[in-house]
Amino acid sequence: MQRHIKHKRKRLIRRILPPIFTILITAAIIVGGVKVCSLLFPDNRFSGYVPAAFGNRISKNVKTAQGLEIPDWIDSQIIDVHNTARTGAHLRDIKDIVIHYVGNPDTTAQNNRDFYNKPDTEVSSHFVVGLGGEIIQCIPLWEKSAASNHRNGDTISIEVCHPDRSGKFTTESYNSVIKLTSWLCNNFGLDEKDIIRHYDITEKICPKYYVENPDAWKKLKKDVKKELG
Ligand SMILES: [Zn+2]
Repeated sequence: MQRHIKHKRKRLIRRILPPIFTILITAAIIVGGVKVCSLLFPDNRFSGYVPAAFGNRISKNVKTAQGLEIPDWIDSQIIDVHNTARTGAHLRDIKDIVIHYVGNPDTTAQNNRDFYNKPDTEVSSHFVVGLGGEIIQCIPLWEKSAASNHRNGDTISIEVCHPDRSGKFTTESYNSVIKLTSWLCNNFGLDEKDIIRHYDITEKICPKYYVENPDAWKKLKKDVKKELG
């Protein structure tokens, strides 16, 4: 009788074990594959979706960005996910704030934001500052914009409108740039040394006026320092 029970138990174990092994091995292959992909393509759109539990480390600043409340002086008009303008990929860190000029005199912040949102546009920035000082947000703070070449993965970008070809900001846009960069610095533990021009990344003449007039650029950084106190 006892021998019969033992035999039955053995048969049961033999039947249950193979499917359990199959499930465990499949799970290991999936987790391992995801981990390998996130290591191989740290900048890829794919890695933005890998949960932290799978070993895709989220930097402190990106986590801060995810929990940050956008103040009411910023008009949030997030563009649709499409092409390279907004892929949905996450930033791997926030190390610098990059200032640009739109390069298209007398266009409004709304014009530029709507341009980023067109299905075939391949560029974008986190913020556009308009001629009257209005600020439109186009990309969530923890996602990559398409403005600063190889630094898209660890920077926040600000495009600024300008009335003429000189690229000089209006007083209103200038003041908004100072306010916005200071707010970002305060939230991400950055200071005026972390505010850079597109020029500092690729030597592109952007933002034009502040490349051609280094003293004006120095003053802008000094004004942010003053604002940070
Ligand atoms: Zn630029």
